[in-house]
Formats: sequence, structure tokens, C-alpha cells
Amino acid sequence: MNVLVVGGAGYIGSHCVRQLIAAGHNPVVLDNLVFGYRAAVDPDVPFYSVNLGNESEVGKILRKEKIDIVMHFAAFAYVGESVTDPMKYYFNNVASTLHLLRCMIGSGVKKFVFSSTCATYGIPEKMPLVETMPQAPINPYGQTKLDIENALKSFAHAYGLSFAAFRYFNAAGAAEDGRIGECHNPETHLIPLVIDAAVGKRENVQVFGTDYPTPDGTCLRDYVHVDDLSRAHIAVFDKLEKPGTALFYNLGTGTPTSVLEVIHAVEKVTGKKVSYVTGPRRAGDPPALYADSTKAKTELGWEPQFTTIEPIVASAWKWHSSHPDGFKK
Ligand code: UDP
Repeated sequence: MNVLVVGGAGYIGSHCVRQLIAAGHNPVVLDNLVFGYRAAVDPDVPFYSVNLGNESEVGKILRKEKIDIVMHFAAFAYVGESVTDPMKYYFNNVASTLHLLRCMIGSGVKKFVFSSTCATYGIPEKMPLVETMPQAPINPYGQTKLDIENALKSFAHAYGLSFAAFRYFNAAGAAEDGRIGECHNPETHLIPLVIDAAVGKRENVQVFGTDYPTPDGTCLRDYVHVDDLSRAHIAVFDKLEKPGTALFYNLGTGTPTSVLEVIHAVEKVTGKKVSYVTGPRRAGDPPALYADSTKAKTELGWEPQFTTIEPIVASAWKWHSSHPDGFKK
């Protein structure tokens, strides 16, 4: 398949590009490089630096590259910033995606794979999360993703678009050969911050809340390897043949891991002590979020290869230790 990977120079997109190549597909990357890195994409992969608002240019790319499927990873994803600057999030995550979808439908490209998030569930009443549970996001970031999920349902019905929306839990880890990995600026995610504290790039890491109703008092999250996420995106291709198909899948390992367990895993993998301080809860953090991914397993045959935190952290460490400055712009 010829696959346009929008946001293919970003963290999850760039891993997906490599998995696509490994599976025998032809990825084409579109990324405006606001958050992505050219160096994260193999120089042999066709690359376009275009904004999604430029529909005529995006249309030309769809036709020129004879695109069969579009995968869309490009989004702003800082929850806190989405609260203070929601306009930015609605424009980038909703408006830009609508431009892309309008352009696709106009060009007759009607298969779409969308990066959604467990943040669309808000603060769930029950764990683990299944796809049919109510979605009630508690921040604009989650709302923008849910808005697109809803638009996709209508577009499937009205225009015969076929799509899969994957609700990710905590994407983590890096390519097994250590060539690409997580590189955000600013970095807010737990694993890279803990690794930075282990190597002395930060004085310490702050644990946000130690009084949660969890075994060690810190938040539980479901860390899922970025290559496992990518493999699910490819496994769904066969399901998108029928026009109007609408699919939603949670992607997580189902293993809840606490903040302190992440810190201990980093210490074990790196052999270095992590200095941490305990602090107050971060606003909007549910105590526990972990997935029931039975649907992806039964329907797509998806089986995560990384099921525990240590090998995930080990892959992240391979990237961070070999690229202490990340990607250079
Ligand atoms: N966290 C933390 N200190 C940090 C960053 C994150 O204690 O400096 C906690 C956060 O409260 C959450 C977990 O680590 O429980 C994962 O947070 P992250 O921001 O990586 O992902 P999120 O779950 O918000 O998508």
C-alpha cells in the first residue's frame, strides 16, 4: 500500500514509517516540522513539508504518490497547554484534520487511520477501559480528539470514508536499534524525564502525587511500546476495504505501572540512582488508566511484544544513551 503518514517525522509517526517499510508498504511522509524532525525519517522516504491547510498542495501529493491510505499522527498533545491555549488546539487538531479529510474525500482517498487517545474517556468510573465506556474528556486536548472521532463517524456514514481510530494509552520506548526515539521540546513525559534525572541532565524528577488510592500512592498508567502501537496501525489495513467502516480500538498492554515503578525500572536498566522529590498531584490526572485491548487482539490479531515496563524502558534508554541531545533540527 502507498501510505501517507501525516506527522511522520514525529515520535509515533516516525516509528510507524519504519514499521511500514518492514511490512513491505511504501510510506510517504507529510510533516510541517513544527514538532517533527527531518532526521527521524529515512532520507529514502519521500518527504513533504506542507501545512494541512494548504489543501491544493496536499491534494497534489495524494495524486502524485497514488496514496491508498492516510495515517494521521500530527497533533499538539500538551494537555496543560490545551487548557491555557485551547484555540491553538482546536485549530491544529480539529481544523487541520478537517482540511486533510476534505482534501482526501475530494481526491477519492477514503481510508484513514487516526491517532486518538485514552484522554477521550476523561476520568473513568471503571478499569480496565473498554471501547464502549462513556467518553467525557476533561481537557481540550482530549475533546479535540473526540471531536474528530465524531466527525469521522459522520463522514463514514455520509461519504463512505473507512477509518480506524486508535485510542492510545501511554506511548513509550524507542526503536530496537536505537536509531530513533522520543524527542519532545519541551519534554513533559515521565520516562524521558526520569532518564534525564538518572543521567544528571536534570537535578531530579518530581512525582506528581503520592496520595492516590493505588498500591504505592502514585498514579497508574499503561505504558505501551511505540512499535507495538505502529504494528496495530498496519494490522488494521485489511479491515478498511468496505466503504463506511468505522472502527475504534484501545491500544495498551493492560498492565498498570505506577510512577515509582517507572523510576525503579529506570534505575535498574541504567544502573544509576534517580533522584526524585514528591510533589502535589498534577491537575487533571486520573489515579489509574489502563486498557482492555481485547478488541484489538481478537479483531486485528494484535499482540503487544512489550508487556512489561523494563524492556520498554530499556529500548528508551538505548535511544537516549546514544543520542544525548536527541535530534538536531
Ligand atoms: N508524572 C510525574 N512527574 C512528571 C511527569 C509525569 O509524576 O514529571 C506522572 C503523571 O502524573 C502521570 C504519569 O507520570 O501519572 C505519566 O505522565 P505523562 O505526562 O508521561 O503521560 P500522561 O499519562 O499524562 O499522558
